[in-house]
Order: sequence, then C-alpha cells, then structure tokens
Amino acid sequence: MKTPEEPVRGRCVLVMSGKGGVGKSSLAVNMAVWLAMQSRSVGLLDIDIHGPSVPKLLGMESVRLTQEAGLIVPALRGPLRVVSLGFMLQDANTPVIWRGPAKHGVIQQFLNQVLWSPLDYLIVDCPPGTGDEMLSVVQVLGQCEGAVVVTTPQDVAISDVRKCVGFCRELKVPVLGIVENMSGLVCPHCRKRIDVFGSGGGEALAREFQIPFLGGVPLDPELAQRSDAGQPIVEADPDAPTAQAMVQVFKSLFDTRPSRSTLEVSMKIAIPLHNGRLSAHFGHCEQFAVVEADPQSHTVGQVELCTPPAHEPGALPRWLTQMGVGTVIAGGMGRRAQQLFSASGIDVIVGAPEDEPEALVQAFLDGRLVSGPNVCDH
Ligand code: ADP
Repeated sequence: MKTPEEPVRGRCVLVMSGKGGVGKSSLAVNMAVWLAMQSRSVGLLDIDIHGPSVPKLLGMESVRLTQEAGLIVPALRGPLRVVSLGFMLQDANTPVIWRGPAKHGVIQQFLNQVLWSPLDYLIVDCPPGTGDEMLSVVQVLGQCEGAVVVTTPQDVAISDVRKCVGFCRELKVPVLGIVENMSGLVCPHCRKRIDVFGSGGGEALAREFQIPFLGGVPLDPELAQRSDAGQPIVEADPDAPTAQAMVQVFKSLFDTRPSRSTLEVSMKIAIPLHNGRLSAHFGHCEQFAVVEADPQSHTVGQVELCTPPAHEPGALPRWLTQMGVGTVIAGGMGRRAQQLFSASGIDVIVGAPEDEPEALVQAFLDGRLVSGPNVCDH
C-alpha cells in the first residue's frame, strides 16, 4: 500500500468475513475513522446490503443520501465520507428482500456511481460470506488493494474463514491479512484480558495459508456499548484495550508517514453567521466566520469574521476558494449552491445546528458533526 499514485476512488480495501456477527463492520468503521484521524482522505462504503450497520455504528441513523447529476453524494461525518444502503432505507428494522439481479444492480450503483472526492483510501464493508453478493462486489470493483478477513476464535467461524481465503485466491484478490476479533475478553473491572474461547486460531490459519496475521482484538463490553451509541472506539476511547489492538492492526496495514495533507498546518472552515451563531439561511447571511482548524491535534485556531460579496450565483464559492476555505458548515443550502461548492472542491455539511462557530468546528474535528436534514434550501 505504498505506491504514490492516488486515483480518485483511492486504494480500495475490502473488509470481509466468512459469516455475520464477527465484528467486520466494527473493524471497517474504526479503520475508516482512524485513517481519517491520520488526516487521510477516506471514504467508507457499507455494501453489506442485508445488514447495513454503518449508520448505527457512526451515529448517523437519521442521515439520508442525496444525488447530484445521477450520482450518490456521500454523507459527511467530519472529514469522513460515508455511503451506506442504510441511508436509503425508510426503516432499519425492515429486512431488505431483493432478487439476485436487483442486488447486483445496487452493488454496481454503490461501487460505480458515487461522487467521491479524490480519496486516499476507500474502505468497503462487504456482505458476509462468499456468495453471489461478494462475487458481485469483486467483479464490479475490478481492482482493489486487497482484503482484510475478520474472524472469531470459534471453530465454525474459522472454517468459514477458510472459504473466504479460498474465495480471494480464486478471484485474485490479495489477502492483506487475518484479524481475530473477540479474541479473549477484556474484564470490565480491571481491563485485563481473559481467554474465554481460546485464541490463536486466526494465527494458525494465517500460518497455514501463509498470509499475514494482523492481530487479535479482544471482546470488550465497552466496544459493544460504544458501538450502540454510535461512537467508534478508536476515536471515543483511544486508550481502551480494543482501540489499541485495532490501531496495532491498522498500523501494520497502512503507511502512516505524514502525507501531503498531514504536513499542511491547518485547514479553513467557513460558517455563515447571524448574531455570532450559525445562520440557517445561507444565501442571506451578513457575515462568515472563517475558522482555522488543525485536523491532527483537533484544535480550533483563529476565527476571522468576513463580509461576503454581493449575492450572485458563484460569487461565494469563488470568494471562499480565494481565502483557502475547503469546507463549509451550514444549516441549509439550496441544491444549486451545493453543486457550485462541490464543483469548486469545497465540502459542504448541511443540517448543522445554530451554534457558535468554534463549537461547530470542534464538533467537526471530533467527528461529531454529521450532515443532517437541509434545514433551509433557498
Ligand atoms: P458483522 O459486521 O461481522 O456482522 P458487527 O461489527 O456488526 O459484526 O458486530 C456485531 C456485534 O458485535 C455488534 O453489536 C458489535 O458491537 C459487537 N462487537 C464486535 N466486535 C466486538 C468486540 N471486540 N467486543 C465486543 N463487542 C463486539
């Protein structure tokens, strides 16, 4: 994963498992969030079409996707771009029942018709198993960096995971390594690790197939609780044993030397203001706060108050681009304006609350600000 080219969809990493419930989505979500914390430009695609759990794991259940020129526009969670079928379902509890061709169509749309901005990495949370859906993912994707296979120590999962490795080999998808999740238990009282089911099955399997063993992640009630609350553990409690174990896995997978973006000292975020707080009416606000922010240390820097140019289409994106602004946090914004910003390479988060600019930028840096309903679209 160390070549210099950075295609638009970025280096694509599949997160797979032989069966459901082994922690594949949890690993994929934490991987994407962690890479974003390293200032990588990251997309997370949840293509687990029968159980899209990414919205819940990221606390984004109320988010709905929009389209632009027939392409899906990813939802933003701080700097992370997210696409999940869960954002399109009316109700998370209703099962998705599709025949094969419809499933293939959805997978195709999710892989090929998304307006990703240039990404360093695209993390794909795949459907479990090695059936038709997984075959569609690999066929439609064409090329990818490789797959991370998640398993648990129990034997059944281990035998399923053999099929997973065989499937990748058959389809020439490089296996980047195996992660053994729920490997031992973290005691909720002393945080020490206890082996319940035994562990080491993943490691033995990796040896047998001569693929890297990336590490074991213990079973931790805190991870389950945080997942339910939409808080990825690597961000919410980086000192937790599960967070540290995941980070070990990610460090062995990804090159975390400073990239161009991490070398940039700060980014600029613009927020339309009314009486010192975010104004829901984007086009008619009297002032903008242009806030400097350091995505590495999550610190909010200088805030400059600026008066926008006269209201005419295209004037604001031009003006903000000249000031070096890369992101706009807004309450509401018309579709046309959103398109103009997107064409200028400026990310827009809509649906933000009428809060003070510093608080909004802090929430953005901490990954707590997600695009919500467009509160005013004119
Ligand atoms: P999959 O994507 O394989 O179906 P999920 O990531 O959705 O699995 O995880 C299934 C459940 O197990 C979730 O409730 C999640 O919070 C929980 N879980 C996953 N990994 C762990 C772990 N290491 N410790 C505790 N709970 C976990």
